[in-house]
Amino acid sequence: MRSFAYRTAEDISQAVTTHGADDHVAYVAGGTTLLDLVKLDVMRPSQLVDINRLPLSEVETLDDGRLRIGATVTNTDLAHHPEVKARYPLLSQALLSGASTQLRNMATTAGNVMQRTRCPYYRDASAACNRREPGSGCDAMHGINRMHAVLGVSDACIATHPSDMCVAMAAIGATLTLEGPEGVREMAFNDFHRLPGEQPEKEHELRPGELITHVTLDTPVEGAGAHYLKLRDRASYEFALASAGAVVAVEDGMIREARLALGGVATKPWRAHEAEQALHDQPASIETFEMAAEAALQDAVPHEHNAFKIPLARQAIVRALREACKDAENANPQR
Ligand SMILES: Cc1cc2nc3c(=O)[nH]c(=O)nc-3n(C[C@H](O)[C@H](O)[C@H](O)COP(=O)(O)OP(=O)(O)OC[C@H]3O[C@@H](n4cnc5c(N)ncnc54)[C@H](O)[C@@H]3O)c2cc1C
Ligand code: SF4
Repeated sequence: MRSFAYRTAEDISQAVTTHGADDHVAYVAGGTTLLDLVKLDVMRPSQLVDINRLPLSEVETLDDGRLRIGATVTNTDLAHHPEVKARYPLLSQALLSGASTQLRNMATTAGNVMQRTRCPYYRDASAACNRREPGSGCDAMHGINRMHAVLGVSDACIATHPSDMCVAMAAIGATLTLEGPEGVREMAFNDFHRLPGEQPEKEHELRPGELITHVTLDTPVEGAGAHYLKLRDRASYEFALASAGAVVAVEDGMIREARLALGGVATKPWRAHEAEQALHDQPASIETFEMAAEAALQDAVPHEHNAFKIPLARQAIVRALREACKDAENANPQR
């Protein structure tokens, strides 16, 4: 049994000061990732700082039209927020595809951004895992790697980033607000998660002691349709084998703008830039979607058990794009 101290912070500066950039201290929000990992002896904090009382549970539309989401807004509240449903349906769909109702009631926006990989070797303290214990090796590389990534992999780590919410945010575009001992700063969402490279233990750009206070979504693409498609082993309460989040604006049958991100196949929430280029100014047709899907997976690197994810992800992309275009047509029948 390992003991740890537990403090509840009443405001942001108290949370940051209590944390004090100490590696052995962790913020806790819904606890749905953190407490599991503590129980598995994968995370061993000596102190938890509870952030649930901080004034970070609001969703507000800013004067410039962007949507600012507080760090402790739950996945349930965010998915059902009227502004999210009306202006960011991709985010609502992605959130509702994740976990279970009970988990979404507890899980928070920042906690979801910070959730850890579900690689079983990472979660098994007796296995070799470079991410959990740098330099120890990677048991997934020649082990059971059916759930693992094909994009953004390295010789040190092939673990997927498991979030659905983050796939939608990667496609929509967002900015994180971070507050820590050195002050407040902002960072583009797509720069926050790191590729594993030779240092898979460095998962993100958060500095010691920094707190995510808000996620601010970019203004939506005007007149666009959206669709999040998640393919998995069972229809609910399961992580993605491959998922695709698409936002597409179509005019006179031509794709004016497309945003595409992938989940379940990559080591971070994966914005598919090559696919977006292949879609731009092209007819909204199955042939175009297939070309985009090829472009998105052109650099995929399979391992022994996960090669099936490459055609699966291509299918997810084609279907998500098709549904997003239908959604755009339904919303703008004159275009
Ligand atoms: C059985 C199960 C199934 C799941 N299925 C899915 C799924 O299908 N799709 C999906 O996307 N997710 C899924 N999840 C993951 C779930 O969405 C995450 O566990 C949840 O979003 C984490 O949020 P939390 O508030 O509980 O985080 P916590 O567990 O409280 O914290 C997680 C991490 O974030 C850090 N943290 C929390 N808040 C902040 C902050 N403001 N600033 C800096 N660091 C912070 C903590 O220190 C910790 O390291 C599943 C989880 C479980 C247990
Ligand atoms: S894939 Fe990454 S997380 Fe999984 S065992 Fe290897 S190093 Fe660890």
